[in-house]
Amino acid sequence: MPLVIAMDGPSGTGKSSASKGVARALGLRYLDTGAMYRAMTWWMLRNGVPVEDAAAVAARVDDPVIESGTDPVTPTIAVDGEDVSGPIRSREVTNAVSAVSAVPEVRARMVALQREIIGDGGIVAEGRDIGTVVVPDARLKVYLTASEEVRAARRARDLAADPGASVAVVRSEQARRDRLDSTRKASPLTRADDAHEIDSTELTLDEVIEAIVRLAKE
Ligand code: C5P
Repeated sequence: MPLVIAMDGPSGTGKSSASKGVARALGLRYLDTGAMYRAMTWWMLRNGVPVEDAAAVAARVDDPVIESGTDPVTPTIAVDGEDVSGPIRSREVTNAVSAVSAVPEVRARMVALQREIIGDGGIVAEGRDIGTVVVPDARLKVYLTASEEVRAARRARDLAADPGASVAVVRSEQARRDRLDSTRKASPLTRADDAHEIDSTELTLDEVIEAIVRLAKE
């Protein structure tokens, strides 16, 4: 079994911080697959592709060159050589990404790219379908959850620079995104049967990291 830690779960659970922390603690690489779907979405928006039109998105799926760096200290994401780590976090991209990631052709290309990067392992990979689709034989699978209130508050903090991003707005946008991610036909967000579920509502980031590191050493 490849040494892969699969970290799945809905948005705002602290998955990225925990995944990077675990990778650093164990000397592993780190892959943010959500950033790849965001990069694809950013490219579609920039090129005027109507993101709600699955056929239009599918027709352009092979056009952008998406590159992900796997250093957990400074993860990078580039499209056609341009650093997009800032723009992919905008609310415009966040609110469009579920439509783009529901397109089967997008998922097929992303999964192939992700498997290429994961290679022989030595990596913490985070997303929605790592344990179920991308690496179903990962050595350790974690499904991270948190209460809806905590998740919305964390997301709002991340978006503090955006004046439109009150907790209430973020909560409804997040609920919509989670609903779309969990009900789409292609690889919906579900917990793998053999995943360890960790509820981070009452835990600090360090406690979440410690729990996962402990599981990895078992
Ligand atoms: O993790 P993050 O919130 O950045 O992910 C953005 C979006 O990318 C998710 O809402 C989901 O639509 C999509 N995604 C996915 N499969 C993954 C990772 C992310 O469909 N493995």
